[in-house]
Amino acid sequence: MYTMGIDIGSTTCKCVIMQDGNTIIAEALKAGGIGTPSPKAVVEEALSSVNLKREDIASIAATGYGRNRCDIADYQISELSCHAMGAHYIFPEARTIIDIGGQDAKVISLNSNGQMQSFLMNDKCAAGTGRFLDVMSAILQVPVNEFGNYAAEAKNPSSISNTCTVFAESEVISQLANGVEMSDLIAGICLSVAGRVGALAKRTPLDEKICMSGGVSKNSGVRLGLEKAINKPILFSSKSQLFGAIGAALSAYKKANS
Ligand code: ADP
Repeated sequence: MYTMGIDIGSTTCKCVIMQDGNTIIAEALKAGGIGTPSPKAVVEEALSSVNLKREDIASIAATGYGRNRCDIADYQISELSCHAMGAHYIFPEARTIIDIGGQDAKVISLNSNGQMQSFLMNDKCAAGTGRFLDVMSAILQVPVNEFGNYAAEAKNPSSISNTCTVFAESEVISQLANGVEMSDLIAGICLSVAGRVGALAKRTPLDEKICMSGGVSKNSGVRLGLEKAINKPILFSSKSQLFGAIGAALSAYKKANS
């Protein structure tokens, strides 16, 4: 039996097809979130990569910010439960998920069955989210997927003192004008996000295994900064940005069997 999870985010769309609720057979990820052609495109790409059609899929669940505007899905499900299910599938030992996406950051606590127990969220302020990194990427003309490499080269990471994204933008421009090295500036930007999310995470018990989810987990500058901020190792998978879609496909499998 095939099931599909679609995660329609604020900045990217993700789609996963699973077989029998245990094997990922197709995945697709595209830049562009709700309101762009990406939701349709990821579904088409995932289906065609394994020569399947919509009719072959027993159940489709949509999650993420744009889940209520997804015609192809059979039903919608909250992204918190999907991240919990997706993280538990990849890292059964994880009890905390730190999810940093395009417009919010969440710290989700799980029980040993992978069910969500509680969560904390920052969705009020762009600082501490992918949005902050994307704004800085546009100013610096450096793609976010290169931030990790730049940050690794930093000798003296800058301090970004403004917490407001708009003021931090001016601060970064002025540091650039003063000749601060790009690597030091990018490291400082990553550490600023890591520090803010680390402070959120420290409000929960962090005794057991921790993993990251969301697109910002791919930014090693933020990820390694976060490990330092919370003083704990963080599990990372190359599929971390797909956890929501994986969780939705797992939920669809349960639904199809209920
Ligand atoms: P959403 O679900 O809200 O669209 P995602 O979880 O997909 O968000 O995360 C999007 C964020 O991830 C972007 O704002 C960007 O900063 C970051 N990101 C995406 N891809 C990469 C990458 N390859 N390397 C570093 N950062 C990335």
